[in-house]
Amino acid sequence: MAKSYYDVLGVSKTASDEEIKSAYRKLAKKYHPDLNPGDKAVADLFKEVNEAYEVLGDPQKRAAYDKPSSGGGGADFGGGAGGAGSFFDDFVNMFNGQAREGGGSNGGDISMNVTLTFEEAAFGVAKDISVNRFEPCSSCRGTGAKGGTQYVKCNNCGGTGKVRFAQETPFGRVVSMKACNVCGGTGRIIKEACPSCGGRGLLRKNTSLRITFPAGIEPNQIMTVPGEGERSRNGAKAGNLVLMVNVMPHKFFKRKGLDLAVEVATTFTQALLGDKIYVPTLKGAKVAFPLPEGTQSGTTFKLKGHGIENAKKGVTGDLLVTIDIELPKNLTKEQKNKIKELHESFKPDQYDKAREFFKK
Ligand SMILES: [Zn+2]
Ligand SMILES: [Zn+2]
Repeated sequence: MAKSYYDVLGVSKTASDEEIKSAYRKLAKKYHPDLNPGDKAVADLFKEVNEAYEVLGDPQKRAAYDKPSSGGGGADFGGGAGGAGSFFDDFVNMFNGQAREGGGSNGGDISMNVTLTFEEAAFGVAKDISVNRFEPCSSCRGTGAKGGTQYVKCNNCGGTGKVRFAQETPFGRVVSMKACNVCGGTGRIIKEACPSCGGRGLLRKNTSLRITFPAGIEPNQIMTVPGEGERSRNGAKAGNLVLMVNVMPHKFFKRKGLDLAVEVATTFTQALLGDKIYVPTLKGAKVAFPLPEGTQSGTTFKLKGHGIENAKKGVTGDLLVTIDIELPKNLTKEQKNKIKELHESFKPDQYDKAREFFKK
C-alpha cells in the first residue's frame, strides 16, 4: 500500500493543524527544486509533500481522508493515490456517472443474464432472482453517519454537493459543475462514520427479487425492471435492473416469434390415403387434424391460434406442422412383392416430379 499522507509529512495521525503546517514548511524548504536543481528524486519528494499537505492542511479534506474505508486508501474521491478495492471503485464510478448526468444521486443499472425454459418463455413465469446490489445500510438508515444524525455541512461546496470547475477549451474557458470531491456529492460531512458501512450509507448485498416474465417473451429480449438496479444514497432514484433473457431449446418445438414449429411423423399410407392425425401442442394437449389425401413429405400445415400467446399485445401465434413421412423397415418378401405389384400399377402421370424418370 502507498505511504499515507501522514507518513509523507512525518507526523502522527493525531497531529494538530499547527504541527502539520510546520512539518510541511520544513520539508518543502528541504526538497525545494530551487535548492536541489536537477535532482529528480528530490523533485518527486517535493511533489509528494505538497500533495500530502493539500489534503492534511485542509481540515475538511483531512476529515474525509481519515474516514475509514474497507477499500484501503482513504477517501480519495477526487482521484489520486490510494489502492482501492472493487467496492470502492464501483462506488466512485457511481458518483462519476451521476455527476455527468447532472447532479442527481441516481444508482447505476445492473445487467444480468437470465435463462428460461422454452415453456417458461412461452407461457410466462414468476421467478425469484438473486441480485447483488447496493442496499441502504440499516444501522445508519442509509445516511453513512453513526446513529444516522451526526453531520456537518460541507464547506467546500456549501452543502450543495456540487462545485464549479473551469476547463480551458479551444473555445475559451468553460465553467461547469461537478460533484464535490470533499463530500462526494452529498453536501455533508460525516462527523463519525457508521461502523457497519464505513460511512458509505450503502452495503453490497444479495437481494432476492420476484420477477414476472410475460408470456411470449422473445429469446435474447432485453427486459428492463425500473428501479431495481443499484440503490442510491439519501433516497435518490435507484438504477434499473436490465435482464437479458436466454431461452433454452425444446426437444420437439422450435420458435419463430410467436409461431411454434413441430415435425410430425406419419406413415406413408396415412400420407397417401389421408387420415385424422393428432398433433402435440406445447401445453401437452393434442389437436386433431385432418391430413389430406396425397400429402407429400415436408408439407407444412398451419394450425391457427395454437402457437404462443402474447397477452400484452393480445395476439397468439400459429402451430406450424411439417409432415415427415416415415417408411416402414424390414419388409418381408411377401410385402416386397406386394409393393412391387402396387408400384407397377401406377401410371407415370400419377407422379409430378418423378414423371421424367418414369419415361426412361
Ligand atoms: Zn451505515
Ligand atoms: Zn461538498
